[in-house]
Amino acid sequence: MKRREREETRHEDEREKNLANWIPKTEIGKKVRAGEITKIEEIFEKNKSILEPEIIDSLLELEEKMVDFKKTTRVTRAGRQFSFRAAVLVGNKNGFVGLGTAKDKERWPAIRKATKKAKLNISKIRRGCGSWECTCGLGHSVPFRVTGKASSVKVTLIPAPKGTGLVAGDNIKEVLQFAGITDVWVKSFGSTSTKLNFVLATLDALKQTTKMKASNEIIKKDEQQR
Ligand SMILES: [Zn+2]
Repeated sequence: MKRREREETRHEDEREKNLANWIPKTEIGKKVRAGEITKIEEIFEKNKSILEPEIIDSLLELEEKMVDFKKTTRVTRAGRQFSFRAAVLVGNKNGFVGLGTAKDKERWPAIRKATKKAKLNISKIRRGCGSWECTCGLGHSVPFRVTGKASSVKVTLIPAPKGTGLVAGDNIKEVLQFAGITDVWVKSFGSTSTKLNFVLATLDALKQTTKMKASNEIIKKDEQQR
């Protein structure tokens, strides 16, 4: 077995074990554990907040990746104090993606906390085939042009026809891959030293795919009422 496969198997075993030992504390958690809720959409539709990462693990098969890691030093009267900040991306490569960041005095707790937060932060994005040059109708790209921001970084995603691929920097590409988008044109602005901001801006852009839908529906409703 190759190392990567071994790691994946171990990861899978751990997930199964964690879920087997899970004692849910929230009402939604209990319903998921009992098999009464089998789709994450059922929770999102009711606008209920998810407080247990095991809920997400039960309903989605997620991949995890640390996208940023920083060691920071603070000088205090007591001396130097180190802390770690981890940013973890999770996604099922099929429309669900989330990011979590966390700080801790130690490395692993920072990563663990960030992973948990990423799961709780997960959101569904809307994919589509918004390109005029492509009429396949499948969700391989974004449904329309969207722009996201994070501090000084701006990322614009433009619908592209099938086969275009992801023409973007690694940080942006990873987010798109985790969301399950395979073809898109990307325009980005901002300092390349702020790696995490590119991830955040891309996520922000992807979230616009659902916000716009909502506002379009409101406009439609408004028109109907007139
Ligand atoms: Zn298409």
